[in-house]
Amino acid sequence: MADLLDKRKFYIDGAWVDPAAARDLEVIDPSTEEAVAVISLGDQADTDRAVAAAKRAFPSWSATPPEDRLAVVERILEVYERRKPDIARATSLEMGAPQDMALADQAEAGSSHIRNFIAAFKDFRFVRPLGDHAPTSMVAWEPVGVVGLITPWNWPMNQVTLKVIPALLAGDTCVLKPSEIAPLSSLVFAEVLDEAGVPPGVFNLVNGDGAGVGSQLTVHPDVEMISFTGSTRAGIAISKAAADSLKKVVLELGGKGANIVFADADDKAVVRGARHCFYNTGQSCNAPTRMLVERSAYDRAVEVAARVAEETGVASAHQPGRHIGPVVSKDQWSKIQDLIQAGIDEGARLVAGGTGLPEGVNRGYFVRPTVFADVSNDMTIAQQEIFGPVLSIIPFDSEEEAVAIANDTPYGLTNYVQSQDGARRNRVARQLRSGMVEMNGESRGAGSAFGGVKKSGRAREGGVMGLEEFMDSKAISGWD
Ligand code: NAD
Repeated sequence: MADLLDKRKFYIDGAWVDPAAARDLEVIDPSTEEAVAVISLGDQADTDRAVAAAKRAFPSWSATPPEDRLAVVERILEVYERRKPDIARATSLEMGAPQDMALADQAEAGSSHIRNFIAAFKDFRFVRPLGDHAPTSMVAWEPVGVVGLITPWNWPMNQVTLKVIPALLAGDTCVLKPSEIAPLSSLVFAEVLDEAGVPPGVFNLVNGDGAGVGSQLTVHPDVEMISFTGSTRAGIAISKAAADSLKKVVLELGGKGANIVFADADDKAVVRGARHCFYNTGQSCNAPTRMLVERSAYDRAVEVAARVAEETGVASAHQPGRHIGPVVSKDQWSKIQDLIQAGIDEGARLVAGGTGLPEGVNRGYFVRPTVFADVSNDMTIAQQEIFGPVLSIIPFDSEEEAVAIANDTPYGLTNYVQSQDGARRNRVARQLRSGMVEMNGESRGAGSAFGGVKKSGRAREGGVMGLEEFMDSKAISGWD
């Protein structure tokens, strides 16, 4: 214990405070399997204390003029930029993102969201005309109240900034419960907000697990809204638990994206798709994990994707370079091994990777970048979210069949279309049941409107829609 980073305090009411009762959890570095820090898991008393602080701070923060709230967020951006190397180091340590990627992508995602929210907020219209019903009719956008923010471990700062920043701009006060598996970067983030001068009680952080602080926030009578990113399983549990108090519930859940590659797309589309699937060691909800390839281009695509897997370096998060790191935990590693084995057992053709550790590796939660060909969409690897670097390639013979396979999943987060034919791309995009469709390597502008349908949840994060999620609309109408 002596040489572990002691991160047992919570940030409540503008101060670092001791937990009510000590229940410790070690944070494990997935590159080394060693404990690197110790946090506390909060209990009901900690949750109550944080919610009470947020409730006390709400009247004054919600009445703070929008331009003053914006000024606070602009200071957050300045401090965040300066602390980005610390955030990146914490991210590498807690969830295994390689150090260069942790800085350039993981920590940068936070800056980019803060910048985008600042831009969206500057143009945000809090009061809009309500049709042409009456001259004084309007819709006013108002803060929701105390919001509970629950985040996962795979893109820690991405998810934390997508929730905390719009909540603050909207005039809400909040309690953040980051993933207990990756809590370190969020603790640095709390230091950033403290240094930036966020008033006491406006932002609070309590560490804990889903059964403890997560569930307590979800049922708390003084919490008006839960914004949750994580698994579909937990999203369902949260929806049910929040029903009794009729909270607003915003859910960003799992995904099983299809990447439809028509024969007129080139090898680059296949390379890009495979790399995207392995990016962040496959631990992204929007990963294009099912590559659907038109029959005439199929053999070539399988060959190209297998080569990408073989060329993808796997190494410690503490080494420089653009390799992929380990997966986050022993549990995730074992789950991924079982799913790769299921692919083999159910008759998919393994063309790269497989079970076990990569050659020469004997510790750390490393997974071999894996490609299966001849996958049929009813196989376990095509239906379940694997959250590891595993690509399934499925052939198709017609546009209709491609759309049917892509939509044959409980999830509906992101799908992808690769083709030179613009009319076909648009036609297919409109038929895909998902919150997002990305075509020929293009992604949404300015991080906006991120979200899904079906079992991927129905929230929208980022940009104007992401701001509106943290507000209630009020229709005001009348005559002079
Ligand atoms: P998880 O659901 O296990 O945990 C996420 C968070 O919820 C953690 O903070 C956890 O402590 C908490 N939690 C768990 N059960 C809870 C409960 N019953 N009540 C309240 N809180 C609870 O997910 P994870 O393993 O941390 O993250 C991986 C999952 O997140 C994947 O399914 C992935 O697809 C999804 N994800 C979705 C998006 C998106 O935007 N759609 C983005 C990233 C990750």
